[in-house]
Amino acid sequence: MAKNIFDCELPNDEGYFGEYGGSFIPPELQTIMAQVTTAYEEIREDPEFLKELSSLYQHYVGRPSPIFHAKNLSEKYGADIYLKREDLNHTGAHKINHCLGEALLAKKMGKKKLIAETGAGQHGVALATAAALVGLECDIHMGEVDMAKEHPNVIRMKILGANVIPVSHGRKTLKEAVDSAFGAYMGDPVTQLFGIGSIVGPHPYPRMVRDFQSIVGVEAREQFLDMTGSLPDNLVACVGGGSNAIGLFTAFMNDESVAMHGVEPSGRDIDTLGEHAATMTHGKPGVMHGFKSYMLQDEDGEPAPVYSVASGLDYPSVGPQHSYLKDLGRVNYAHISDKEAIDAFFEISRLEGIIPAIESAHAVAYAFKLAKEPNIGTILINLSGRGDKDIDFVAETYGSEYGL
Ligand SMILES: *Cc1c(COP(=O)(O)O)cnc(C)c1O
Repeated sequence: MAKNIFDCELPNDEGYFGEYGGSFIPPELQTIMAQVTTAYEEIREDPEFLKELSSLYQHYVGRPSPIFHAKNLSEKYGADIYLKREDLNHTGAHKINHCLGEALLAKKMGKKKLIAETGAGQHGVALATAAALVGLECDIHMGEVDMAKEHPNVIRMKILGANVIPVSHGRKTLKEAVDSAFGAYMGDPVTQLFGIGSIVGPHPYPRMVRDFQSIVGVEAREQFLDMTGSLPDNLVACVGGGSNAIGLFTAFMNDESVAMHGVEPSGRDIDTLGEHAATMTHGKPGVMHGFKSYMLQDEDGEPAPVYSVASGLDYPSVGPQHSYLKDLGRVNYAHISDKEAIDAFFEISRLEGIIPAIESAHAVAYAFKLAKEPNIGTILINLSGRGDKDIDFVAETYGSEYGL
């Protein structure tokens, strides 16, 4: 790493970004979280740890990921569009950046096992990869419905040596998987470390995962300056929990000339609860999974059902730092529908030869809209992942519309 990437003022010692974040967990777990926080405070200053992580980023993940000037898209849409290629990382997305950090932390704390939930299986695969590398056991809790849908990722996790634990209660998807993993963690928080998949959960996770992901923006800022002689005018990233977005944004936070855009999924219908996952647009502050943030709620204040064509964006809350940045007005939060994302998925595939993750295609679609605005300047998109995982689904669901 060129400089210490762990360089940011918020959250405060209690894990708050303004009124968001914090730690809403049972007292038994408070002690354990305090230990995780202390251990993290130590390693983030530890030159040995930073050297080890930096070396893995370079030689294992393949960092720095390049920035590519997408000239064909630029020509068609009327503004210079650049891509930060997180899709080229080992395992195909940005998640490996924080999973390696979490795995090294677990090892330094003397833990034996990493434990986590997964929805589509992307986080599970990245964590299982890091666990295999670092020499830890790994338990991944996954809803039975998701296991059937995302079979190749279940196989990948098993090949990597992880235990995939089927969750068979409730709707058998992500929310139940979180509950199940949390229960198992509570059963033995001493020998296990919870490896959260985004900048969500109780303190210190929103900060820790942000710090690990901020390598993306540190690299991008330097690369973009080298390539063009100036900073980008716009940053665009999709927002599920918000880790790839905050990873890109952090290094530019104090650059007032740089506009930042976070893109949420409006799914099938932005005006019907249950048909989208646009937390920033329709959410209200609330507490779930141990932290306070904007949250999509039903009439009883419970997490609402959510939907998006991109399973990685399908979450009824959002990282607390994003809620803070929304209230501050520092980031513009916009939304993109399934249809717009799928159009963009094919457009970038056919014009640039890059098949994106459907999550990342949301950011691409919003960049197309931005590009058409007058005097918009340059646009840097965080291409958070590659689309290999999505091709069968896209072919089955949209194939005939797009001439497959
Ligand atoms: C998981 C995932 C996301 C969403 O997670 P964030 O924490 O919002 O970044 C986005 N893109 C890809 C490729 C993913 O795998």
